[in-house]
Amino acid sequence: MGFPVHRLRRLRQNNNFRELVRETNLSVKDFIQPLFAVPGSGIRKEISALPGNYHLSIDCLVEEARQVRDLGIPAVLLFGVPETKDECASGAYSPDGIVQQAVRALKSMVPDILVITDVCSCEYTTHGHCGIIENGYLANDRSLELLAKITLSHAEAGADMVAPAAMLDGEIRAMRQILDAHGFHNLPIMGYSAKYASKLYDPFFKEGTHSTLSFGDKRTHQMDYSNSDEAMREIALDIEEGADIIMVKPALFYLDVVYRAKKEFQMPLAVYNVSGEYAMIDAAAKMGRLNRDAIMFEALTCLKRAGADLIITYFAKRAAKLLSEQHAEAFGKVPGETTISQVVPLPEPPVKKIKTP
Ligand SMILES: [Zn+2]
Repeated sequence: MGFPVHRLRRLRQNNNFRELVRETNLSVKDFIQPLFAVPGSGIRKEISALPGNYHLSIDCLVEEARQVRDLGIPAVLLFGVPETKDECASGAYSPDGIVQQAVRALKSMVPDILVITDVCSCEYTTHGHCGIIENGYLANDRSLELLAKITLSHAEAGADMVAPAAMLDGEIRAMRQILDAHGFHNLPIMGYSAKYASKLYDPFFKEGTHSTLSFGDKRTHQMDYSNSDEAMREIALDIEEGADIIMVKPALFYLDVVYRAKKEFQMPLAVYNVSGEYAMIDAAAKMGRLNRDAIMFEALTCLKRAGADLIITYFAKRAAKLLSEQHAEAFGKVPGETTISQVVPLPEPPVKKIKTP
């Protein structure tokens, strides 16, 4: 039976109806904010391709993490930009490396935010590749040894979760083994399970981590963007090897992969709303072609609708701030009269008192 008995517009006629039947609701608790640690002190330098995101020396990083926490965002994903690089990424596993120092500072100064560390070596190698190069090729098994060393150093510094980004075969297994062998049985691993070789990472590498490839590309280990069956095989292997959370990266061009991953595996699923996705929206907004905040919310909500549980995004702070302002408005507080930290964690909706006889 169709029209005129059924009129789907009935439930769209005003905002109250639309809210009642809304299937997907974005929450500040869905977000993970990426942060970039740099050596030095007093440094808070905006990354031009990622406005609103900064290179932060550890003192400023701690302050930023406090703001992220006060907005109600539960976790940060930490990247390091080291002072020096070498062939074998020794800065990536040094106990005094930039990430290890940053983790220690965050866990002692802002202990109530989860610190997830990106585990890879491409920010620390002179050639910009994700491991050890042999005859011009990324050597898988030797690079796993390096990855395991980096993992252990992050765990010892106090990371709450580690996230391997290289897409090497067997990386989750190598990490789980070294963590368990050193008593870190309870430290979870978020796998970059289906990570595609994408040009959408360019703003991150060029301006975020200053990591450029001296030769070649990453297509021998990251996935071909033409494939999605292969993504399911990658995810299945990560789960078998011990991944606690799986991920699809990039996000917005890959919603079919996100949808399949959630349907097929019913695992906690993260997506990485990457730098190129952020930069495109920012550029279009600056040109006056798109409304930045409207597009931001549409993008983030659609990621969740497709199946994402966790959203790593450079928009996290902005979206969290706007969500809490909307919430404050909805519950009778005027934005500006109250600070974000006063309304976060978000209060429960007012409960109607029912008189009992
Ligand atoms: Zn890498």
